[in-house]
Amino acid sequence: MDYDAIAEYIKRNNIRRILVQAPDGLKPLYLCIHRVLSGRAELYYSSSPTYGACDLALNEARRLRAEVILHIGHTEYPFLHIKPEIPVLYIPAYYRWTPSKKLMDDLADHLKSLNAQNIGLVASIQHTHSLEQLAEELEKRGFNPIIGSKPYRVADRGQIIGCDYTSAIAIEDFVDVFLVLAGGKFHAIGLALSMSEKKVLGLDPYTGKIWDAQGEARRILAKRYYIVTSLANKGFSSVGVVIGLKPGQYRPRIVHIIEEYAKKKSICVYKIVSEELTEDRLIAIDNALALDIYVVTSCPRLALDDLEGFYKPVLTPAEYVMLFTKDYTYRYPW
Ligand code: SF4
Repeated sequence: MDYDAIAEYIKRNNIRRILVQAPDGLKPLYLCIHRVLSGRAELYYSSSPTYGACDLALNEARRLRAEVILHIGHTEYPFLHIKPEIPVLYIPAYYRWTPSKKLMDDLADHLKSLNAQNIGLVASIQHTHSLEQLAEELEKRGFNPIIGSKPYRVADRGQIIGCDYTSAIAIEDFVDVFLVLAGGKFHAIGLALSMSEKKVLGLDPYTGKIWDAQGEARRILAKRYYIVTSLANKGFSSVGVVIGLKPGQYRPRIVHIIEEYAKKKSICVYKIVSEELTEDRLIAIDNALALDIYVVTSCPRLALDDLEGFYKPVLTPAEYVMLFTKDYTYRYPW
């Protein structure tokens, strides 16, 4: 983490009160921040979760009258609809990683078995700094690695986020296989869902596991198509549109599109506002309103991950639109 950049920002802007915010997995960095910054400004640490740069603790900062939010672990979100009135300093946290010879040899064998020569490399923000080294190692083994493009103004080269894969899409035509360097499955599955044909492999730097994200995405798609086609056959007469209030998750234009489609078929729409949508919250709403389906307009992953087992259909906006257009091309994100 670039502690100097933080210290320099505080000094230059004469900052006296800071709200520090980090995803749960990076909250241990609060200890380091405290060691470096205490005495320079009054520090407050957010206990709330944050799942992406879309999710800024603006209400907390407002209440505390913080002069800046120090948002750890993400780069600036490209689709903010609510412009933060409090400055946000985004400080990514990078994981130091050196792939072992054995891991690189296994990876080379795996790629050869797929007959892949041109390898598209992308990563979650914690691992973008390792892409150059990964590319060098692949080159040494006779492959042609291509690091993803720089997706938007402030992001890193090759960076993907759960709802933006433009850095990969920009190089799609030149690669045989994508390799996603990220912990867990979230990012690689997202990329596989947004690509119809390209093979996508995940490489988890924490476990050293190489895995087939395209295969997992196909299983998810099979479930999603089952939900959508069952609904298309059965029909529905009411929909709950979940509107996210996190700064990057408020998407009024999508809400409007959903309402317009519903109007054409005289479907009853309830607009449900949610700061943080969990299964419990949706159960509470469903107990009260008993609607036929729900469409989540906040984070496109909620319907696919957290709420995929909900006892009523919970759709992404793109899945909902399929029900009206009967164009069954899967579109992710959205
Ligand atoms: S995938 Fe969801 S949590 Fe992640 S940046 Fe996008 S909206 Fe935010």
